[in-house]
Amino acid sequence: MPELPEVETVRRGLEEKFIGRRIDKVEVGRQRSVRRTSREEVIARLTGVTAIAAHRRGKYLLCPLDSGDVMMIHLRMSGQVLIDGVDSPRPAHSHVVLTLRDISGSIQELRFVDPRTFGEVVVFDPADADSIVPELARLGVDPITDGLSLAQLRKILRTTARPIKAALLDQHLVAGIGNIYGDEILHRARVNPLRPARDVGPAQSVRVHRAIHEILEAAISQGGSTLADSQYVDLEGESGSFQNQHRVYGRAGELCLTCYRGKIFSANIGGRTSCWCRVCQR
Ligand SMILES: [Zn+2]
Repeated sequence: MPELPEVETVRRGLEEKFIGRRIDKVEVGRQRSVRRTSREEVIARLTGVTAIAAHRRGKYLLCPLDSGDVMMIHLRMSGQVLIDGVDSPRPAHSHVVLTLRDISGSIQELRFVDPRTFGEVVVFDPADADSIVPELARLGVDPITDGLSLAQLRKILRTTARPIKAALLDQHLVAGIGNIYGDEILHRARVNPLRPARDVGPAQSVRVHRAIHEILEAAISQGGSTLADSQYVDLEGESGSFQNQHRVYGRAGELCLTCYRGKIFSANIGGRTSCWCRVCQR
C-alpha cells in the first residue's frame, strides 16, 4: 500500500500537472471508486472546475477546487493517479477519468487506475467533511505536513502500551507511516518493534524521531518505494527507487545489512508482518 512518501510524490505530481487545469469532462466507469457519494454527484461537482492546490494529510490527497469543494483521493492498496495525453491508450481499470485543458488549450487525461478497487475518489463540500470524510478529523500528526516535533512524538508514545511498531502504524497517532517505513524507521533508530511505546526511553525517542524524518525525507527524495508488484508509480508511470535502500522490510531470513551478524527476523505485530534485526534492535 502506498505510504506517506509515495502519496507525497503523487501530490507533487498533481501540483505540477493538475492544478490550474480546467476539468472539461468527467467519466466514472466503476461506481465502487466513488462509493461515498455517487457517480452523478462526482461528475456534477467536478465538471467545469479547476483545482487550485494539492495537499496531503497522511495517505490522503486533498485538492481544493475553485468551486469551494474539495476532491479527496485515497490510493489504498493498488490505486494509481496517472496523467497522460488523450491519445495514449487508457490502462485497464481506469475507473475515473478527468479530461484536463490548460490555458494553452492542450488536453490531457488524469486517470484514477485501481485494479483492486479499494481506493476512492470523493468530492465534498468542506462544510460536510464531518459526515462524508469523518476520518480526516481523526488523523494524527503528519510528520512532513505538520512537522512532528520530538516533544509531540514523546507525548504520543506515552499514550499507549502497544508495541511501538503498532503505535507508529496507528493513523490516529501518526499519519502516513505504514508497514514499510515503520520497519525501516525502527531499524534506523535501533529500537525493537515489540517494545511497548510508553517504555521507549528518552535516548531511543530521540533516535526514533530523527529516523522518522530521515527515512521519510530520503524516501520522498527517491520518489518512494515500488515493490515487486510494481503497483505504485508516480503520475508519469515511473517507479520509485527507495526500495533499493530497504534494510529490513521484506528481507526476512536474510543477513542484516547493518551489522552483518543478525538474520532478519519477522513476526506479526498488530496484524502486520514486521521485520527487524534482533542484534541491532534490542
Ligand atoms: Zn543487524
